[in-house]
Amino acid sequence: MLKGKTALVTGSTSGIGLGMALTLARQGARLMLNGFGDVDAALAQVRAVDPGAVYHGADMSKPEQIAEMVKSCESQLGSCDILINNAGIQHVAPLDEFPVERWDAIIAINLSSAFHAMRAALPGMKARGWGRILNIASVHGLVASANKSAYVAAKHGIVGLTKAAALENATSGVTINAICPGWVLTPLVQKQVDARAAADGVSNDEAKRRLLAEKQPSLQFTTPEELAELAVFLCSPAAGNIRGVAWAVDGGWTAQ
Ligand code: NAD
Repeated sequence: MLKGKTALVTGSTSGIGLGMALTLARQGARLMLNGFGDVDAALAQVRAVDPGAVYHGADMSKPEQIAEMVKSCESQLGSCDILINNAGIQHVAPLDEFPVERWDAIIAINLSSAFHAMRAALPGMKARGWGRILNIASVHGLVASANKSAYVAAKHGIVGLTKAAALENATSGVTINAICPGWVLTPLVQKQVDARAAADGVSNDEAKRRLLAEKQPSLQFTTPEELAELAVFLCSPAAGNIRGVAWAVDGGWTAQ
C-alpha cells in the first residue's frame, strides 16, 4: 500500500510511535525514526522490516532541530511524504502546583513541535502534490480530565492546529488529520498505572482495571497496532477526502 512513500514518525522509539513505524514499514514505506531511550532496539525492530530505516535524534522541544530533521529526512530518504507528529510527554498535578518548567515542556513537545514539523514538511509535500500528516492528539484534545492542564491544553491545541492546516491545504493532495486515542498501555500510561497502584494500595492489574473503569467503557486498552492500522487507512487513496478530523479510538470514552 505505501511502497515508494517515505515516513517520518516523531517519538518512534517507544509505544504508539514505534507501533506506527513498524506498521508503515510493513506496508512498504521507508522510515525515519526519532525519539530517546532505547534507540538501538527500536531501530533494529524497524530495520528487520525496512533495512534502510534511518534515525534522527532531534529534541522535539527545539524548533531548529525539528526543521533540521525534516530536511535530513528529505535528503536521506528523498522526501517526507508522511509525517506523524507523535512525540509526547505527560505530567499530572493540580494547576496551582503545576511546575512551570513542565508546562513549558509539554506545550513545546506535545503542541509546538507539530507546528514546526508541519511548517518544514509542507512545502515539499505541496510541491510533490501528495502528503499525509497525522497528529497524534488524544481524547484529551476533545474532553478534559483533572490534573492534566498542560496536556489537555496542548492536545486541544493540536486538534485546532490540525483543522486550520487541513483547511489551508484542502484543495491540495496533502491531507491533515488528528487521531485521538483513549488509554493505550505504553510507558507514558504505565507511570499513571504505577501512581494509581501506589495511591490506592492495589496491584498493577487492579490499578489498570480502575483506570479503565473510570473513563473507557470498553474496559480494554486501545493498542498501538489498532492506531497504526487507522494511520495506514488515513494514508490510503480511500481517505483522500478526509480532512481536518479528530478521530477518536477510545473505547467509547468521548461518547459518554
Ligand atoms: P511513550 O512514552 O511510549 O512514547 C513517547 C515517545 O516520545 C518516545 O519515543 C520518546 O522518546 C519520545 N519523546 C519524548 N520527548 C521527546 C523529545 N523531547 N524529543 C523527541 N522525542 C521525544 O508514549 P506513548 O503513549 O506512545 O505516546 C505517544 C503519543 O500518543 C503522545 O503524543 C501521547 O500524548 C499520545 N497519546 C497517548 C495515549 C496513551 O494512553 N498512551 C493516549 C492518547 C494520546
